Amino acid sequence: MTWRACVLTLFPEMFPGALGLSLAGKALAESRWALTTIDIRDFATDKRRSVDDTPAGGGAGMVMRADIAAAAIDTARKDMVPGTPTFYLSPRGTPLTQERARELAQGPGVLLLCGRFEGIDQRVLEARNVEEISIGDYVLSGGELAAQVLIDACVRLLPGVAGNESSLAEESFAQGLLEYPHFTRPREWEGRAIPEVLLSGDHEKIAQWRREQAEKTTKDRRPDLWKKAPRG
Ligand code: SAH
Repeated sequence: MTWRACVLTLFPEMFPGALGLSLAGKALAESRWALTTIDIRDFATDKRRSVDDTPAGGGAGMVMRADIAAAAIDTARKDMVPGTPTFYLSPRGTPLTQERARELAQGPGVLLLCGRFEGIDQRVLEARNVEEISIGDYVLSGGELAAQVLIDACVRLLPGVAGNESSLAEESFAQGLLEYPHFTRPREWEGRAIPEVLLSGDHEKIAQWRREQAEKTTKDRRPDLWKKAPRG
């Protein structure tokens, strides 16, 4: 069964976007995963094809209507494997993590609802059991880029997508740490040498150096991760 992402959006032309290139794009062309988009505007019911309305309680901006978002979700679900989780990309959501991406990559796929304007009527998220998920503590102008981030993080973990699967085991967050730094030829560049140990050919020493670097970087830059990192 192919891992499948279905995206509900007002801007289907933003897809596949970055997902059509490089690793994810090649895998998409090889049908190692599938992508569909649904235009939320197709579910508008009035002549002007409007999908939003002014916020209850007043204030700036517009809010996507629950009835229209629900119709789009219901239609999309008819085509998805039952049990496929539905997410609304939202700065108010649970932060996306590598661990979550790994879990989602092991499932049947994702159904993603992209907001625009001020957001979406909260009632549809409850009524349709939609989880809010965030890609970070900043505000984007729409959910489409966030959806591409989530999909990319999952797709590169699918079997046969990353060229070198062993690199997945070592990369940042895989062991609760940030990754060690990388170097390549030339051996000396603008007076800067590659750390001697990496040229030693001593695999054990190299592994130890990398581990130390990963720990030091995590401690310095991300004390929050360091506190949670498995020791030993
Ligand atoms: N008024 C909202 C922000 C709306 S931004 C608030 O203050 O919480 C417009 C849309 O962009 C949102 O509906 C959401 O789908 C998307 N979006 C913005 N920032 C995001 C983030 N950090 N992660 C995921 N989606 C985001």
